[in-house]
Amino acid sequence: MSLTNSQYDAIMRIYQQKQLNNRAKLVKRREEIYQKLPAYAMMEEEIVSLSMEEAKKQLLEDEFSLAQTKAAIHSLIASKQDLLTSNGYSKDYLEDIYDCKDCNDTGYIEGKKCHCFRQAEINLLYTQSNVKNILESENFNTFRFDFYNESYIDPTTGHNSLVLAQNAFDICLHFTQNFDSEFENLLIYGSVGVGKTFLTHCVAKSLLESGHSVIYFTAHQLFDTLAEQKFDTQSADTIPETSTHILDCDLLIIDDLGTELTNSFVSSQLFLCINERFLRKKSTMISTNLSLSKINETYSERTFSRLSGNYKLIKLTGEDIRRKKRRLKT
Ligand SMILES: [Zn+2]
Repeated sequence: MSLTNSQYDAIMRIYQQKQLNNRAKLVKRREEIYQKLPAYAMMEEEIVSLSMEEAKKQLLEDEFSLAQTKAAIHSLIASKQDLLTSNGYSKDYLEDIYDCKDCNDTGYIEGKKCHCFRQAEINLLYTQSNVKNILESENFNTFRFDFYNESYIDPTTGHNSLVLAQNAFDICLHFTQNFDSEFENLLIYGSVGVGKTFLTHCVAKSLLESGHSVIYFTAHQLFDTLAEQKFDTQSADTIPETSTHILDCDLLIIDDLGTELTNSFVSSQLFLCINERFLRKKSTMISTNLSLSKINETYSERTFSRLSGNYKLIKLTGEDIRRKKRRLKT
């Protein structure tokens, strides 16, 4: 899938709007500071007049006095910053504001699309905007261990559900913190309502914030998208070229694998997708209600061996949190 002209224009309009909003925000900040800290405005005026002097001295090649003026300007700049910080503002409070400091909200870095542009494309092409709202409330900071119980023992591992949750949390956190240096894939499995989707949200939010491109799909969204695009191609044995984002975004999340209607198309597309991403060293995170043996039964042998051999397996267990939450509400 690539952008149509009007989609491209829509993204560029968002960038223009960002620039306008941030400029307006900065104007407000200036007014605020001038009002609260009049000394700041005075220092700024002084810097302007010293700068004019500096230019004059440069023309006159008055080296000694030029150095003095330069030093005076430097010390004024430092005092200005001190004034801000000692009044509880950050020292860059009055500097240009950008949503993306990598491309200064232009969408491009040296003629190439910035990661923020790629994410905007993904959000538009794969309707990811609904995910963004969820991430505000479901992230590492809001993960609740009190939903997991020490007395609930997982019969296969012998660990209680709290220990498993802590382990899962740590692995996911480590995954995001070392995302650029360690290539890893995650498979979270466990029964319904034990917090698997929540953890995928934690990871998505954290990586989006660190400027990575993330596509978030439920399993059937993924296969629907692939099936839709397949009409352009002839065979189920390839991933349509139009799905490049799915193959090369920094992280692909497939939530709830196993809830889709499985057939040979789904099975072969799943393998192609995770295999191709693996070859490209692009991480994938999958959550599923299926047990490992059920995965083996449901999908092909080669899919199972990719998953079991190249994914970190994370088990979650416990009571159904959704039911627990509902109970707490009533
Ligand atoms: Zn950017």
